[in-house]
Amino acid sequence: MEHFSKEKTLVMVKPDGIQRTLVGEIIKRYERVGLKLVGLKMIAPSKEKIEEHYTLDPEWRRITGEKTIESYKKKGLQPPSENPLEITAIILENLKKYMTSGPVIAMVWQGAHAVKISRKIVGGTEPFTSDVGTIRGDFVLDSYQMSDADGRAVRNLIHASGSVEEAEKEIKHWFEESEIISYRLVQEQMLYDVNIDGIFE
Ligand code: ADP
Ligand code: MG
Repeated sequence: MEHFSKEKTLVMVKPDGIQRTLVGEIIKRYERVGLKLVGLKMIAPSKEKIEEHYTLDPEWRRITGEKTIESYKKKGLQPPSENPLEITAIILENLKKYMTSGPVIAMVWQGAHAVKISRKIVGGTEPFTSDVGTIRGDFVLDSYQMSDADGRAVRNLIHASGSVEEAEKEIKHWFEESEIISYRLVQEQMLYDVNIDGIFE
């Protein structure tokens, strides 16, 4: 088995994240938790590339629709449809508009539990209900209710892979193998080495 420290995840700063000048803030949060940046680029993506990105997981349509319905019901509200796939079809069209409205930054971060740690830093999909202390909870105030009323995607600044399998597919979707750099970070000794020694002179 590969060591924990080798796990990788894909993170994208969405167009609103760049327009809100949050690139530095976002990178800072990934750096300070101990993850290592192993790939980074700015892209003006096509609508096709975005649709492919979101449908790499064949279950994404169903899961996203169900998640949206559940979120409405939790708040005592009537969802726009009871059919998850109908909901996702609209979300996907709106997402393509949103994600191609300006440049995005794609990054690959590596380290122990990179996928789950990254989702914890990012917070839940809907900024209105995502936790304080997360990127989505701290820097934006959008809700499903507001984005649906205005017929657009919810603006939540950032994308992060949802599982290790999703991360593997998404990294391949956005990066050539040669664009992912394998290197040592000095602080990794403190994070991962079995023995901490050689500090005192
Ligand atoms: P996450 O980005 O947290 O993994 P999903 O994979 O479920 O969330 O959805 C992808 C993106 O689609 C979200 O980040 C958001 O921008 C948009 N989105 C998801 N659900 C909705 C919704 N109900 N209404 C508007 N936009 C949505
Ligand atoms: Mg997702």
